[in-house]
Amino acid sequence: MTAQPPGNSKASGTPGKSDKSFPSRYFVMVYLCTGLLMMWMLRQAGPDSSIKNIPYSEFKEHLNKGEVLECSIASDRITGTVKLKPAPAAPVVKISEPAETAAATAAVKEIPEERFSFATTPVEDPKLVEQLQAAGVKFKGERPSIISEFLWGWIIPLGLMAGLWLLMSRRLASAGQTVFGFGKSKARLAGEKDTGVKFSDVAGCEEAKYELKEVVDFLTNPDRYRALGAKIPKGVLLIGPPGTGKTMLARAVAGEASVPFFSQSGSEFVEMFVGVGASRVRDMFQQAKAKAPCILFIDEMDALGRQRGVHVGNVSDEREQTLNQLLVEMDGFEENTGVIILAATNRPEVLDRALLRPGRFDRMVVVDAPDLKGREAILAVHARGKKIVSDVNLRKIAQSTPGLSGADLANILNEAALLAARRNALLITQTDIEEAVEKNVAGPERKSRVLGEAEKHRVAYHEVGHALVAAFSAHADPVHKISIVPHGHAALGYTMQLPDEEQFLMSYSELIDKIRGMLGGRAAEEIVYQEVSTGAENDLERATALARQMVCVYGMSESIGLVHCAHHQSPYLQPGGGESLQRDCSEETAREIDKEVKNILTHAYETAKAILADHRAQLERVAQELYRREVLDAQTFRQLIAVA
Ligand code: ADP
Ligand code: ZN
Ligand code: MG
Repeated sequence: MTAQPPGNSKASGTPGKSDKSFPSRYFVMVYLCTGLLMMWMLRQAGPDSSIKNIPYSEFKEHLNKGEVLECSIASDRITGTVKLKPAPAAPVVKISEPAETAAATAAVKEIPEERFSFATTPVEDPKLVEQLQAAGVKFKGERPSIISEFLWGWIIPLGLMAGLWLLMSRRLASAGQTVFGFGKSKARLAGEKDTGVKFSDVAGCEEAKYELKEVVDFLTNPDRYRALGAKIPKGVLLIGPPGTGKTMLARAVAGEASVPFFSQSGSEFVEMFVGVGASRVRDMFQQAKAKAPCILFIDEMDALGRQRGVHVGNVSDEREQTLNQLLVEMDGFEENTGVIILAATNRPEVLDRALLRPGRFDRMVVVDAPDLKGREAILAVHARGKKIVSDVNLRKIAQSTPGLSGADLANILNEAALLAARRNALLITQTDIEEAVEKNVAGPERKSRVLGEAEKHRVAYHEVGHALVAAFSAHADPVHKISIVPHGHAALGYTMQLPDEEQFLMSYSELIDKIRGMLGGRAAEEIVYQEVSTGAENDLERATALARQMVCVYGMSESIGLVHCAHHQSPYLQPGGGESLQRDCSEETAREIDKEVKNILTHAYETAKAILADHRAQLERVAQELYRREVLDAQTFRQLIAVA
């Protein structure tokens, strides 16, 4: 595959915090109480030593013999007294009997206790009363003891409910809300007296800073504006791809003006509880007004400010309520109260139109991915706190990272520091940083994946195919590095091409050459092995996507002409290559588009093969060298192909 620094920033998940303040105290208390109760009940119900538990059949036997004196009958227990009748006369025992029998007789003699209390568990026996009456037994019914009834009917259920309640309320409280205070704003928690971030901490994005300096001025000298009758804007929307420093800029505005900073993320507003989001907005504005002048920052605005009426369902109803409340609040507070609302989003196209009208978020500040100078400055800012060799060339690093955001660059420097620490070095070197860039662009090196001989040869030819086709195409970016060390989760090797300078437009020939370079790998495999492998999937995917863009949105094909027949889904989420196109044309045109795309790809592939066939000797030589060294830098590559 060919590797070009992709502009997509990598999302990093933070593991959720475990709620360590779980109420173990309450747990223990509830447990203790229940345990004590159960023990007490067991004692109540448990066998009393003076009462003999007998089976029901035995009870009936005693009854039949007329030995039962009296009994009381409860639903689950019959208790009473038995008076044994003297047993029939035992046979006369001769004294000369063997010893064992004598012992047995002695044991028999012990048992007959005249009277005893008994308890038994009744079985279904409708005739019992008749029999009792016939035997003349004194009997009475009994209802379950009041205490146990009360216990089972009231105390235990109530206790369980109370326990559950406690548990739930604790849970919710640990999630930042109490049962009675769902609607309380969490902005108070996030309010910061002073963010401590200054404009000098945010590198690059000079235009954005210039616009925001005005906001700082409003906050620090409101009187100057008021005296002239000028209205201070209420809302400023920061727009740009992820990781370009929008959040950081908002904090810097508060820091520069030394005003409090209240921050809320849009998704925090959107809750399933009806009415809660709206009340949270009200609450937040109240707090902000009390603390004016201040900055109210709403991060990820698109979660909240999405166009209304597009979706249906509970959640979106709630979201719309919240959004309406926000619109009302923004209208409701008079100008010049000193509250300025900053919001950030990377999807401005989905925002509700009403949000963007004058009087609300009427200012928009674009925070774009940094250019070469910006990247160098960002690297310098983040290099400040780190121990780096003095002759480090940050410009070179900036040159090799087009399309990367500020967050990516910060991450690269941190990665470099980790690499240096891993080899026990005292200073971070240029090589560390370059390796970190490579890791960011192509994924981490995978030393464990060892290619077999045959595969390694094939990968070498494939990568050299990319490099050679690029080197012999007039408009392709120069080859920066070739590697057949497996990287990331899929790539077995990569060819890195970097433009000499920042480029904002691409001509037709440049695009064609780029596609040809992408197909060079497969072309080389076909030429050398007369057979292709699965290794070119990613190349084909990207080449096709680029060709489709040429046809659909750049108007670069004859038969489709100037028709713009597809649109980008989101301009900021995936800048550069991998964006998805939404088709916007008739079936007929779609068929024509597919034909055109295929034409472009076939033609590019044929010319790539032609180039490689013409330079077969170089292909062999460079591939052998790459196989031997695994990595080739730009200089070596140029030397190798210069020898004809
Ligand atoms: P966003 O809100 O646009 O997604 P952030 O403001 O959260 O991005 O930036 C994430 C991190 O990236 C910051 O904490 C900072 O370390 C780094 N960063 C991004 N842009 C810049 C910049 N222009 N200057 C310095 N650091 C930056
Ligand atoms: Zn490839
Ligand atoms: Mg952010």
